[in-house]
Amino acid sequence: MRPIDLRSDTVTRPSPEMRAAMASAEVGDDVLDHDPTLARLEDRVAELLGMEAALWVPSGCMGNLIALMLHLKRGDRFLAPAQAHVLGSELGTVAWLAGGMPEALPWEGGPGRPAPTQVTKAAGSPGPYYTLRTTLLCLENTHNFAGGTVTPPEEHRALVIAAKAAKLVVHLDGARLWHAAAALSAPLSALSEGVDTVQVCLSKGLGAPMGSLLCGSKPALAEARRLRKMLGGGIRQGGVMGAAGLVALDYLPRIAEDHAKTRRLAEGLRGFGLAAPVPETNILLVPVPDAAVALAALDSAGVRALPVGSAIRFIPHRDVAMADIEEALRRIEPLAHLLREV
Ligand SMILES: *Cc1c(COP(=O)(O)O)cnc(C)c1O
Repeated sequence: MRPIDLRSDTVTRPSPEMRAAMASAEVGDDVLDHDPTLARLEDRVAELLGMEAALWVPSGCMGNLIALMLHLKRGDRFLAPAQAHVLGSELGTVAWLAGGMPEALPWEGGPGRPAPTQVTKAAGSPGPYYTLRTTLLCLENTHNFAGGTVTPPEEHRALVIAAKAAKLVVHLDGARLWHAAAALSAPLSALSEGVDTVQVCLSKGLGAPMGSLLCGSKPALAEARRLRKMLGGGIRQGGVMGAAGLVALDYLPRIAEDHAKTRRLAEGLRGFGLAAPVPETNILLVPVPDAAVALAALDSAGVRALPVGSAIRFIPHRDVAMADIEEALRRIEPLAHLLREV
């Protein structure tokens, strides 16, 4: 049986068009001179996000890590929404490499986000020399483990205002910022307004085999380039990947199609009596009685998903068509009782 792989939007394969662009990319030595194709990609993404400059990095984790290494000193504390990717899914590098003491903020502002008053309160006021200094707020839009939830521009702005009033630097983990912008029909720059740095992924939903961009001011990124080299992320003829990234950006106008596939999947599963919420973007978290039982059943039917706590996560993407979602629903229907909460 042909598997329908909904584990992540990272399982996409480079399209023939992307491979052709990679094969014919204009390249140079990015460590020595700045590769021309990477430079084009960086300019394009900086402009999309309304930021001064951008730096290509091999992964989202490295982008976030470089940002937090830039902003944090040992003895600093930083704030992030509970279950943020930087807190639980980056092997603690924010603590042991960037040197920050994390503080998770519960989601009082909505799913995946704190309220501005929480930021003000958690930032507190400077204490005696022997206390931690709270210096940074790390936001995440969309919030992955809240189920791809979106922070709208007004709330983003209010969080940034609260952070700045408390003298905090703001980093935005925007691995799927594209999805937030598509869901809101808002420009990307409205969702990165006021932040010091933002990281976006080309390998999440857009189809590139690798690559993220860290955006910020020119001086911040000059320092970020040093940190990238320090972490072993200085690459030579990066234009091969830059070309893939430029083609990946062509998918931006089509992201709404992936949201429609996700809504259809959720609706179908609700029809079988499952507790699927209405998804905001391309991530669907379905609570199940036993994740291992549910995954084994799905696997036997050729539908692949991942466990997230006591839920199953499905992420439709560009390499599955709406017809594949209908096929997945046909395969799931006979075993839906194994996924239903009692
Ligand atoms: C995937 C992801 C990252 C990390 O990206 P990688 O390219 O896998 O290193 C960071 N933040 C969020 C919210 C993500 O979903």
